[in-house]
Amino acid sequence: MSDMELINELSRRELSEDEVYIFPVKLCDNETDRDCERFSIAALEKLAELFVGRTGIFDHKASSSNQTARIFSCEVKREPEKRTRSGEVYTYLLARAYMMRTEGNKDLIAEIDGGIKKEVSVSCAVKRRVCSLCGADVRKSPCSHVKGQYYGGKLCEVILDEPTDAYEWSFVAIPAQVGAGITKAHGGASDDSAVKALREMLDGSMSEVSKAKRDIISEIVRLGQFTVPAYDGDAVKAMCESMDISGLIAFKERTRSLAKPEKVSGILGSSEDEEESDGGECEERIGLFRLGRRK
Ligand SMILES: [Zn+2]
Repeated sequence: MSDMELINELSRRELSEDEVYIFPVKLCDNETDRDCERFSIAALEKLAELFVGRTGIFDHKASSSNQTARIFSCEVKREPEKRTRSGEVYTYLLARAYMMRTEGNKDLIAEIDGGIKKEVSVSCAVKRRVCSLCGADVRKSPCSHVKGQYYGGKLCEVILDEPTDAYEWSFVAIPAQVGAGITKAHGGASDDSAVKALREMLDGSMSEVSKAKRDIISEIVRLGQFTVPAYDGDAVKAMCESMDISGLIAFKERTRSLAKPEKVSGILGSSEDEEESDGGECEERIGLFRLGRRK
């Protein structure tokens, strides 16, 4: 289909070619951004579908109703010779958008033509936020990895996956994505300050949870050394990464109760809460760990 055919599928009335201004927009890519987040390639493929028909605004002045553009086609582009920081083939979304050629849009069109308005931010919702190191969905079950930190030389990133909706895109002043000069927002409309504030609060809590998890895991590893000979701390640590906080706390208590008290005392101080709350899962996990140790 031609550009005009695609545009007329979206427009309310039949538009002619000289009525519209058509321009390309690079929406987003799979490069790691300043927040150590990136889209998966599968997410970009889904977003290419979701962004068709979406409206773009300029400098968040959506009220000036004529100053909007609309995406009428969008495709995934690859640059095989270029790699992202995480080693993927550089992949981006290239959209084509149109806006009405009106007296009020004259300056704006000139700016776009002149390459001044280049930075685009996109707003979308994603179902999964995945830890690049262990694959945990950090929204559902936070792992102990902290975004932006290195583990054995590997950077922990959050991969944005399974987009469920695309809301809008806009030209903004400050780019956040490193290479592309593009910013992104996700999980809600980008100009919704309440959503933003909540997201920041949530991110803060998640990082607190991550810290707590790390503390508990290191205590489990420490305690575990008093339970069995030839204890493999790394294996236990790896196993703990996938457990949630309550599971970890129960496991810690269980490990503590199994630790040989004569060796532990003096190191750990008194352990007043020795009761075995829902030890079923812990028993199973300890069994698992012992099994692994035998081979
Ligand atoms: Zn992780």
